[in-house]
Amino acid sequence: MPHVVVVGGGLTGLTVAFRLKQFAPDAAVTVLEPRNQPGGNIRTEVHRGFTVECGPNGFLDRTPAIPNLVRDLGLSDQLLAASDGSRKNRYVFVGGKLHKLPGGPFGLLTTSLLSLRGKWDLISEPWRKTPPSLAEESVQEFVTRRAGKEAADIFADALVTGIHGGDPAMLSVAAAFPRLPVMEREAGSVVRGFMRAAKKRKADAKERGEPVSGPMKMWSFREGLSVLVNAMSEQLGESVRCGITVESVSEAASVSPWTVHGQRGYTWSVDAVVLACPAYEQAAILADLNPPLADEIGAIPYNRIAVVALGYREDHCPGRHDGFGYIAPQNTRRDVLGVQWCSSIFPDRAPQGFVLWRALCGGVHRAEQVEWDDDRLGKAVHEEIKLAMGVTGEPVFRRIVRWPNAIPQYVIGHLDRVARIDALTAKHRGLFLTGNAYRGVAMADCVEQAEVTAAKVARHLQSQ
Ligand SMILES: Cc1cc2nc3c(=O)[nH]c(=O)nc-3n(C[C@H](O)[C@H](O)[C@H](O)COP(=O)(O)OP(=O)(O)OC[C@H]3O[C@@H](n4cnc5c(N)ncnc54)[C@H](O)[C@@H]3O)c2cc1C
Repeated sequence: MPHVVVVGGGLTGLTVAFRLKQFAPDAAVTVLEPRNQPGGNIRTEVHRGFTVECGPNGFLDRTPAIPNLVRDLGLSDQLLAASDGSRKNRYVFVGGKLHKLPGGPFGLLTTSLLSLRGKWDLISEPWRKTPPSLAEESVQEFVTRRAGKEAADIFADALVTGIHGGDPAMLSVAAAFPRLPVMEREAGSVVRGFMRAAKKRKADAKERGEPVSGPMKMWSFREGLSVLVNAMSEQLGESVRCGITVESVSEAASVSPWTVHGQRGYTWSVDAVVLACPAYEQAAILADLNPPLADEIGAIPYNRIAVVALGYREDHCPGRHDGFGYIAPQNTRRDVLGVQWCSSIFPDRAPQGFVLWRALCGGVHRAEQVEWDDDRLGKAVHEEIKLAMGVTGEPVFRRIVRWPNAIPQYVIGHLDRVARIDALTAKHRGLFLTGNAYRGVAMADCVEQAEVTAAKVARHLQSQ
């Protein structure tokens, strides 16, 4: 019976293992995870009636990958859609106040975020004929070229801050937002590209006889995102081994060509190894096997993030907070990257009469914040929230989680680096690299890539 070891029990590793059980039912699969529970970045905690997401807050149904996984795990009846308000009402904190992000052409015309010139630059995007430069473009350069500097300073920053906690001037648009340059190439404009994509989604749904879906939605589960990883872990049963850190892998010309070396002298002799742990861990594991490959992987940078969840009494929060929350563009260098109104996005995240809000701090420009002690961080976030939202009382609940290596940053040169990593990995038959460091950081990307990896591993086993 062929045996595969998956290194790392986060969303990616668990999905690889779960799908491998279907794609290669004759294979034995073992997932090795150092922590005492699998799930990686995904962790839901409940304290005094507040349901806190320590990592991701929700996932988008941009592709069918997660909806299909949820269906196959039998979890569809536990899904929870984000509120309508959270889709429509998103804000940025600029110039000392919250501004609603425009949701359509009328919103663009009336927004206080852009000058007349800025509005014109953005609205005329479909007719702009500025060819892409030959050099790889950053997100900032791309949006400036297509829609003007004001749109780049506010919207590109908000996009990059909200998804990557990164710097739009450093991130590669082709790596971080691959659909944007493709839309420009194929439709001549990003706006036209989005319109075409929406039309196609509707036509496809009609052809499949499914209800025509509206814009993409954010989802979680009634009991939080941990439901997804816990269900996979339960179905995988004893295949998931917690408390085991993998230190290295070695290759030999034998029946089971791969040996996985864990801490305390544990070893596994297997037919294939999937590394689904963070890039810096993959680099350490591969350091002896292939130093140039390890160097390439180890050069993928990560940002640092602190998640600060605060609970307030509802009667201390003036105004309606029916929305997603707000982003504070990083060029404003504030003490928060943004605040998500968790109990408005998903109901029941706070006890009756209270709200739960969650700030993300740090990122690439304020990495030192992650070192601040809990009191300093909690106070700084409370002051920001007071300023932006006018709360009149102190928080009644606080939970702080630090991620010293939070989200990989797809900086300029990322795609070339990934191509070099692929070429070097291809020399080792039976070695597969995956995870959020390569082709998308969102949960939907991780699941999609994990399924691609599982299919490749199954083909490899068949070919042996
Ligand atoms: C604060 C934060 C907020 C986010 N918000 C969102 C969001 O709202 N929506 C969204 O879609 N995405 C979000 N993301 C991104 C998303 O959560 C991640 O990209 C995704 O969960 C990564 O999954 P993964 O399995 O690839 O990696 P990880 O979750 O990092 O899992 C890797 C696993 O490998 C294990 N490991 C490490 N070293 C070793 C070793 N030596 N041997 C064996 N195992 C090892 C780790 O313990 C871990 O369990 C967020 C991320 C963070 C940090």
